[in-house]
Formats: sequence, C-alpha cells, structure tokens
Amino acid sequence: MDYKKYIKIVEDWPKEGIKFKDITPLMANGEAFHSAVDEIVEYAQQKEIDVVVGPEARGFIIGCPVSYSLGVGFAPVRKEGKLPREVIKVDYGLEYGKNVLTIHKDAIKPGQRVLITDDLLATGGTIQATIQLVEELGGVVAGCAFIIELSYLNGMDKLKGYDVLSLMRF
Ligand code: 5GP
Repeated sequence: MDYKKYIKIVEDWPKEGIKFKDITPLMANGEAFHSAVDEIVEYAQQKEIDVVVGPEARGFIIGCPVSYSLGVGFAPVRKEGKLPREVIKVDYGLEYGKNVLTIHKDAIKPGQRVLITDDLLATGGTIQATIQLVEELGGVVAGCAFIIELSYLNGMDKLKGYDVLSLMRF
C-alpha cells in the first residue's frame, strides 16, 4: 500500500526547522492502519516474538495492536516517573530535546524475544535507549518495526546488527 499519502508533513513543529511527520491521518484511515499493523505482524510472525515493547506515546499505538494480533504481551517504555513499580532507566537524546526512559524491572524475562515498535525512526536515540533497556533485562531484540524512517537523520547507524522493518522512508 502507498502509505505516504496518509502522512501529513507539518512545517516548524514542534520547533522551527523540524518537518514533523504526522501519522494521525494514517491511523484515522481504517484500511491503511489495518494494513500497516498487518505488515508489522507478518514481519513479527517470522521472529518468534515473546513480547512487544514500545516507547511512549506513539510506540504504544503501533505496538499494542501488533501484540494483540500476535497473542503476546505488550510492555510500555515510559518517561521517568510514569511507571508505578520498580524500574530501570536510561538517558537518551531526541531529535528535539533530552529525556529519560524507564521500563518495569519485571517487564521482560531473560532470553525472551522482543519486537520493539515505534511510529518513526529519526536520529535513533529513542530506539537505542529502548534496546538498552530491553537488553539490560536480558531480552533478545529480535526485530524493530517502524511506520516511518527518516533516512536523512541516519538512525539506522545506531541499529547496526539489528533486524529493522520500516514501512516507508523520507
Ligand atoms: P529519535 O529518537 O529517533 O530521534 O526520534 C524518534 C522519536 O521521536 C519517536 O518516538 C517518534 O515518535 C518521535 N518523533 C520524532 N520526530 C517525529 C516526527 O516527525 N513525527 C512523529 N510522528 N514522531 C516523531
């Protein structure tokens, strides 16, 4: 499917110079959203996934329907102070800003095969931090899936050695 027509590019948002890729029109279209989720599910089915992990907030939008469809659990990665029980944490840099990501200490059991999902790969900071959390808990990152990859920000450089699916590139 040609997903690009469902992505709206918003100039200078959230900061001047950023061309934000808005995925909400894709989510709003039942056929396009269903097809995008199904493509990620088909990819994941070849990887014997035990658990899906996604960073807040748009990683949840992709990861939850994928985990539901696979019949496996979903574990959220969240900003500091949002998860109620014992967490591990990591510092990370964003395309616009800095942050801390956390995951519940018992979210992944050692040896579990993990699919990481997010809406978009930009500089790769978010996904790299998420991989770090998963691996610190002993999880095996079996794949990473995105709706969009911004090739010009070279996020793939941080994903060398990992298996990656992107449904479209800008
Ligand atoms: P990175 O850490 O790879 O630089 O940035 C990716 C993260 O920032 C993702 O979690 C993504 O949701 C968010 N993000 C950065 N730029 C965009 C954008 O243009 N559109 C959307 N939808 N999310 C973005």
